[in-house]
Amino acid sequence: MNIHEYQAKAILREYGAPVSEGRAVLKADEAKTAAGELDGPLWVVKAQIHAGGRGKGHFVEESAGEKGGVRLAKSVEEAEAEAKKMLGKTLVTHQTGPAGKQVNRIYIEAGSDIERELYLALLVDRVTSSVSVVCSTEGGMDIEEVAASTPEKILSFSIDPATGYAPFHGRKVAFALGLKGAAMKQCVKLIGDLYRAFMDKDMEQLEINPLIVMPDGNLKVLDAKVGFDGNAVYRHADIAALRDETEEDAKELAASKYDLNYIALDGEIGCMVNGAGLAMATMDIIKLYGAEPANFLDVGGGATKEKVTEAFKIITSDKNVKGILVNIFGGIMRCDVIAEGVIAAVKEVGLEVPLVVRLEGTNVDQGKEIIASSGLNVIAADNLSDGAEKIVKAVKG
Ligand code: GDP
Ligand code: MG
Repeated sequence: MNIHEYQAKAILREYGAPVSEGRAVLKADEAKTAAGELDGPLWVVKAQIHAGGRGKGHFVEESAGEKGGVRLAKSVEEAEAEAKKMLGKTLVTHQTGPAGKQVNRIYIEAGSDIERELYLALLVDRVTSSVSVVCSTEGGMDIEEVAASTPEKILSFSIDPATGYAPFHGRKVAFALGLKGAAMKQCVKLIGDLYRAFMDKDMEQLEINPLIVMPDGNLKVLDAKVGFDGNAVYRHADIAALRDETEEDAKELAASKYDLNYIALDGEIGCMVNGAGLAMATMDIIKLYGAEPANFLDVGGGATKEKVTEAFKIITSDKNVKGILVNIFGGIMRCDVIAEGVIAAVKEVGLEVPLVVRLEGTNVDQGKEIIASSGLNVIAADNLSDGAEKIVKAVKG
């Protein structure tokens, strides 16, 4: 689960990280008051979307002006004007995809003077089962370019969660970033604060780009991108409350309401499968036969007819779906429940694309009988490979 920059900064501030004063606004007429509450002489007006690269992004609407989603203002009035220009407009960055994202919130921050822009991130490293610290002296808006062309400028090491953070980790980062004196001390404290926040809140990703050195030698967190482990959010009511549903894929949002494990992808074959492993195998075999999956979907073991119906509706609502493969290996899940759910959904929303159904396991005969007697135009498959081949053929000819 992702949150906005201003929300991330509020959390980091609680843990003692150096963050500027700022105000988030939802409406243009709140911008002037918000900016007025902050000290000048510089204000930064920042579009809040769940995507990075805002500074180098551009707006679809001409009325938003030529600049990207991060704008400097020299007065309260200017800050208000920039906020007005961006609110409600569509910002396109290299992370949003070509369609862009609508800007519904603006963060106005007291501006900082920058001497150096550094990069710092904490990530879950699944390979070493530890927390990775990644840092670079080349922070700012081109970190992807640095990673591609001069990867030696990015340093990374891990913190073992069994022993936790120790000041030498912070000194290692400070040394890599060329920080001395007060900045070195601040860096040691900062890494400790960030590590605590990361562990306490079950973060998956915490990226600060840039972390700046100011002309007075102090450090400041100028941008913050935080993602949480979705499976741990139930442990944190405060984090769950930060969820902004307008930022999420509508299909994934609907799926989460029904507790379905659904991830939207950009292929053409919709998949309904039980079990994460079987869902992965189904996606693989679709690719093997030359097509791309439109989604990952695990309906789970104890799915009801209603849940299956909802899952099917989510799949068919995807305009890219040109065919559907239902692949169920009934264990705890019963094939007749799946069949009833599919038929209920088709009755409700219709079926305009080919549908291949492969059922095996518990109550398979009842499941097949329900589908056969429904009068639906369903292509039956005998096994996983047969199912994948048939749906790809039905879609691609
Ligand atoms: P991103 O483009 O989405 O990563 O947004 P950032 O928050 O990182 O802002 C982009 C760039 O704007 C930064 O790399 C800075 O160069 C600049 N910027 C952001 N805040 C300030 C500020 O307070 N003062 C100055 N001078 N520049 C800023
Ligand atoms: Mg940034």
